Amino acid sequence: MEHKEVSEVLEVPPRYPNFEQTAVKKFWDALEEGRLITTKCQKCGKIEFPPKIICTSCYSDEIEWIELPKKGRIYSFAEMNVVPRGFSPPITVAVVELENGVRLFSHVIDASFEELKLGDEVEVDFQEMSWFDYKKHTYFVFRKGKSE
Ligand SMILES: [Zn+2]
Repeated sequence: MEHKEVSEVLEVPPRYPNFEQTAVKKFWDALEEGRLITTKCQKCGKIEFPPKIICTSCYSDEIEWIELPKKGRIYSFAEMNVVPRGFSPPITVAVVELENGVRLFSHVIDASFEELKLGDEVEVDFQEMSWFDYKKHTYFVFRKGKSE
């Protein structure tokens, strides 16, 4: 099957986050430094991901930034054959449950669908990506690490 880039079939300019003006710019800045952070409500203790400026549980705006654990386990995973620009198919994507219960979705960079199973331990890593804005930035990914 012939693979076409999204830009070859899609004329509508894609939207992407404005990293400079977002209220959670801190999150994007931390990624550039190889740190994964999010917000925690100081009133009720709820940890949000993605980060929020207001707690979705008690609506308090008293939030603090916390660092997320780097280790977690595969909660769910899939193989994607239709992929965003900048990726070559197939890619493996997963929902990972971190050690503190927060679940994240991203790309598993070093394991195929066949090499993964539910409950596998993975680690958060960081990779420079170029999405639709043609400007590179860092995003979090998962790495299984191979035992040799
Ligand atoms: Zn709260």
